[in-house]
Amino acid sequence: MSNAVDTRKNIIIIGAGIAGLAAGCYAQMNGYQTEIFELHDQPGGLCTAWQRQGYTFDGCLYYLFGSGQGQPFHQMWEELGAVQGREFVHHDEFMRVVASDGKTLVVYSNLDRLEAHLKALSPIDSLLIEEFCDGLRAFTRFDMSLLYQKPRSLMSIKDWMQIGRKLLPFVAPLANWGSISAEDFANEFQDPFLRRAIPQMFSWSKIPVMVGMSLIAYAHNQNAGVPIGGSLEFAKAIAQRYLDLGGKIHYNAQVEKILVQNHQAIGVRLYRNDEYYADRVIAACDGRGVIFDLLRDYSVDHSLHQLYDGHLPVHSQLQVSLGVNRDFTHQPHWVTYLLDQPMTIAGETHSEISVKHYCSDRSLAPPGKSVLTVMLTTSYDYWQRIYGRSLYHHEETQEASLLIGQLEQFYPGIKSEIEAVDVATPLTYERYTGNWQGSSCGWLLTKQTLPLLIKGIPKTISGLHRFYMIGQWAEPGGGVPIVAMSGRTILQQICHEDRKVFRASFPC
Ligand SMILES: Cc1cc2nc3c(=O)[nH]c(=O)nc-3n(C[C@H](O)[C@H](O)[C@H](O)COP(=O)(O)OP(=O)(O)OC[C@H]3O[C@@H](n4cnc5c(N)ncnc54)[C@H](O)[C@@H]3O)c2cc1C
Repeated sequence: MSNAVDTRKNIIIIGAGIAGLAAGCYAQMNGYQTEIFELHDQPGGLCTAWQRQGYTFDGCLYYLFGSGQGQPFHQMWEELGAVQGREFVHHDEFMRVVASDGKTLVVYSNLDRLEAHLKALSPIDSLLIEEFCDGLRAFTRFDMSLLYQKPRSLMSIKDWMQIGRKLLPFVAPLANWGSISAEDFANEFQDPFLRRAIPQMFSWSKIPVMVGMSLIAYAHNQNAGVPIGGSLEFAKAIAQRYLDLGGKIHYNAQVEKILVQNHQAIGVRLYRNDEYYADRVIAACDGRGVIFDLLRDYSVDHSLHQLYDGHLPVHSQLQVSLGVNRDFTHQPHWVTYLLDQPMTIAGETHSEISVKHYCSDRSLAPPGKSVLTVMLTTSYDYWQRIYGRSLYHHEETQEASLLIGQLEQFYPGIKSEIEAVDVATPLTYERYTGNWQGSSCGWLLTKQTLPLLIKGIPKTISGLHRFYMIGQWAEPGGGVPIVAMSGRTILQQICHEDRKVFRASFPC
């Protein structure tokens, strides 16, 4: 079948994740006709949720930058119709870390409260704590969206100077806190509890402190809220905005190949053999799949291949979701427990277990009941080795019961209250979204990958015209607002190529 369309204004987008949907919305706003091809039967990609036995298990948003009106990223969410009429929960505490003797670090969202609490925990570390909290306060004024507002390829010297002026007050904090990981920073504390707890307060221990600080600073500003209704509903709102703007989404439509003629992308072929043609193609899906599979007949620059040779860290995870017949409303919403006896899960040793509940969103569980999730970093290779054998499902069940056994110690009686269990391994993420190694954010942000974020990954391929790459593999560290921004900036670039003024609008 051939669906040839003879116009220079058509764009094909591969993937209805947040990046693809955002690109589609901004393309439609600027007069382009677009079609999105999505392998799954619903929008959102990694920004998703799923139902099990009356519970909704959320697989993504626990903080959304841009949840606060008038704050960085918010306007973009308004343009995308994602926040209108949507409530957000802004927690008083970002999370907490609890040791086996009950000693607790509460990461208050309010920075004055956090500083007082840290000093009370360890007066001897007061100077370090003040330095840290001053850094956090500096980041409350940092508009991260500045880094993503315009394609770097289009930035003139004047633009760089403007951004430079705005970033000037942050040069010192960025340099100080960008070059140190949470675990290295923790080693500067004298208090043994804080040495163990600090690396846990930003989700992963190798995170550059600057990145973690931005998270807490945005929580302080009430600009990192949890959307009520969950991640899938959030994604569906953007999909609806796209459809309202006249876009078209083909679901269950996996792209097998990007069609190239005379060094120009001209369309896509689906696995079911249909071919679709357009003036431009935007890939908003797994980066490795694009380069090694979808463009397999095209000789892509070696430097792009190298990004995917395994030397950069990728974050694969195991998510165990539980539907529990108990109301956790009055429990802290996110606790990382420090274990005295490390436990082995899927071949890896874990000295901490992190548990979240979603009771602030009553739409996710029946009345009086709760959704809990445990997320762990895991090895993709471990699951890959056993995939396709009965061992895989046995292992899923086994790891879930080990974790439930551990939870019994934190919440006695929970075992008998569990009504639904769901396990998502990196292979689950890979199967549903095509992401290499089931990665939750493209490359993980560490000291090693931070320079990539600052330098930026090219969104085009040298010598291949009218082809663009966006999303979490083009924006190291990923994140829902950042990938949506990458959909926005690519349209700025396309408008520039077509000598048009880029426009964004709000839903009526
Ligand atoms: C557990 C978890 C928690 C997270 N928490 C947060 C959070 O709290 N805050 C935050 O900001 N970010 C969070 N993230 C990160 C965020 O979800 C991702 O970085 C972001 O959603 C990636 O969007 P994307 O559009 O770039 O890619 P994806 O979501 O991967 O979308 C790509 C889309 O392309 C489709 N596709 C792939 N290959 C093909 C093909 N060949 N043909 C057709 N379609 C194809 C996929 O099905 C998918 O829909 C989290 C991620 C995970 C997994």
